[in-house]
Amino acid sequence: MNFIEEIVEKDLQEKKNDGRIQTRFPPEPNGYLHIGHVKAICMDFGIAEKYGGVCNLRFDDTNPVKEDVEYVDSIQQDIAWLGFKWGKIFYASDYFQQLYDLAIRFIKAGKAYVDEQSAEQIAEQKGTPTEPGQNSPYRDRPIEENLRLFEAMQAGEIPDGKMVLRAKIDMANPNMHFRDPIMYRIITTHPHHRTGRKWNVYPMYDFAHGQSDYFEGVTHSICTLEFVVHRPLYDYFIDQFAGDNFAGLSPYGPDYRPHQYEFNRLNITYTVMSKRKMLQLVQEGLVAGWDDPRMPTVCGLRRRGYTAEAIRSFIDKIGYTKVEGMIDLGLLEHTIRETLKETAPRVCAIFDPVRLVITNYDASEHEVITAENIDGKPELGTREMPFSRELWIERADFQEESDKNFYRLSPMGREVRLKSAYIVQATGCEKDANGNITTVYATYDPLSKSGTEGGNRKTKATINWVDSEAAIDAEVRLYDRLFAVENPSAEERDFRELLNPESLKITTAKVESSLANVKKQDHFQFLKQGYFVVDDDSSAEHLIFNRTASLKDNWQKKN
Ligand code: ATP
Ligand code: MG
Repeated sequence: MNFIEEIVEKDLQEKKNDGRIQTRFPPEPNGYLHIGHVKAICMDFGIAEKYGGVCNLRFDDTNPVKEDVEYVDSIQQDIAWLGFKWGKIFYASDYFQQLYDLAIRFIKAGKAYVDEQSAEQIAEQKGTPTEPGQNSPYRDRPIEENLRLFEAMQAGEIPDGKMVLRAKIDMANPNMHFRDPIMYRIITTHPHHRTGRKWNVYPMYDFAHGQSDYFEGVTHSICTLEFVVHRPLYDYFIDQFAGDNFAGLSPYGPDYRPHQYEFNRLNITYTVMSKRKMLQLVQEGLVAGWDDPRMPTVCGLRRRGYTAEAIRSFIDKIGYTKVEGMIDLGLLEHTIRETLKETAPRVCAIFDPVRLVITNYDASEHEVITAENIDGKPELGTREMPFSRELWIERADFQEESDKNFYRLSPMGREVRLKSAYIVQATGCEKDANGNITTVYATYDPLSKSGTEGGNRKTKATINWVDSEAAIDAEVRLYDRLFAVENPSAEERDFRELLNPESLKITTAKVESSLANVKKQDHFQFLKQGYFVVDDDSSAEHLIFNRTASLKDNWQKKN
C-alpha cells in the first residue's frame, strides 16, 4: 500500500466526503503522454478502481498557444490502451465562464487588481525567498478601474502582454506563490481548440485547477511534488469562494473541500520527459515523430514493443514516495523482458547470412519441421519451418580456422544442431574473389532429427537457420537508448547535442517463413538476437521489425 492509499483508507474510515472517492487525471493537451504521466495515471485511476470511486479525465486546456485536439485525441487513446476507464471527460475550458465570474467577484471584493507592468518588471519585484517583494504601483487602483480594465482585457481591447489580473495577497509572504500571483493573462494570438475566439483572457494554473476540482467534486487531487509549494494557494482560492459553495456551483455543499496530495515524479535515465523537449525533438526531425520507438511516450513505447501490462508492472515496481529520484532505464527494459520471455514465440532471424549447403540432403527433397514456439511450452503452440538442402545461417556460426574453443561449424567437423532440426557437420566452404565466404558445406545425419529418438543426441552448440528459398527478407530497426548520457537535463550542453548517435541502426534479416502473416504489434524473440515487435508500418510485402530490447539483462546482474 502506498502512502496515498493510506490517506484514502483513513479518509474512508472517517467517512470523509460521505465515503465518496473521486480523483481526476488532468493532462494539458500540449503533447503526447509519456511514461511519467503513466505513473500519475496509475495513481489516479488506481485509487478510484481500488476504492470503488471514479476517476475523471480533465483536460487542463487553459493555454491555447500550445494546445491542440491532436493531443486531446492521443491522450484518450493512450489511456484506453493502458487499460484504464475514465468516468467523464471534462475540460478546464468548460469552466471559463464560471472562473471569469469568480474573478469579477474577486475584483469586487478588492482582492484582485489589473497590473500594467511587463512580465520582467513583475518578476523583478517578486523578491527572493529570503527578501520580500515590492508592491506594484497599480496595486491600489480603485475597484471600478480594475473592473473596467479586466472587462476591456476580455473585450480584446488590450494587446497581449500589456495587462494581467493579479490576486492582491501579500508581496512579503515567505511562500513566493502568494506574492500577488497572476490569475489571468491576455492571449489573442491563437484561437482556443474548443472555445475558438470567445475568450481573450485565460486563467493561470493556480486560479483554474483548484476551482475545477471543486466544481467537479474531486476528493483527492493527486499531483507531483513540484506542486507542494502551490498547495497553500490551491486552498486559498477555494477558501475565498467555498463559504457560499461558489454560488452553488458544486453539489457537495459549503463544507466540502478537495485536497491536494503529491508524490515524486518519474525520471528515467538516458531520456527526457518534458513535453517541451520532446516537442523540439519531433519538430526538428531528431526523431521520426511522437511515436518514434526511442521516445518515452506511451505511443513510442507501444511501437517499441512495450505492452501495457509491462508498463504498468514497471510503475508498480518503482512505487510512490515523497523524494525525487532517477530510475534506471535498465529496470524498464528488465520489465519488458520479463513479460516477453514468457510469451513471445522464439523464431529464427538471420542477420548476417551465409549459405549452408547440406551436400548429402537430396536437392529435390523438401520437408517441414514442426517447432514449438517456446521450447517446453506446448501450450504456446507450434509453427512450421520448411527445410531443404540450402539454408541461411549466421556468418559468425562458421569459422574457417580450427579452434578447440569454437563449438559451432568449422572444418574440425564438430557436430552442431540446427535448431529444432538435424545435426550437421561442416566439411568446407567456398569464397568469392575478395576472399569472403559465400557458402559453407556440411553433411547431416538423417537419424538426428529433433523430436525423434536420435534427436536426443547432445551437441555443444545449436545454431539458427532459415530455409534459403522460403526465408523472407525483412527490415529490422535496431533501437537503443535515445541519449548518450544518463541525465541529459542535468548537463550544461543543449540536450539535443547529447543524443546517442547509435540510437537507431536499420538493417535487414532473413526471417522464417512462419512470419509471413504477422500482425502489427506481434511480439517475437529472435533467437540469440533480442525481442522484436512488428512495426506499425509493416506490411506483407515489406515486413518491418523493431527491436524492443536486447536479450542481455544488465539490470538483473547489477541488482
Ligand atoms: P511536462 O512538464 O512534460 O509538460 P506536465 O506536468 O506539465 O509535464 P501535465 O499534462 O500537466 O504535464 O501533467 C498531467 C499530470 O501528470 C499532472 O498531474 C502531473 O503531475 C503528472 N505528471 C507529469 N509528468 C510526470 C512525471 N514525470 N511523473 C509523474 N507524474 C507526472
Ligand atoms: Mg503541467
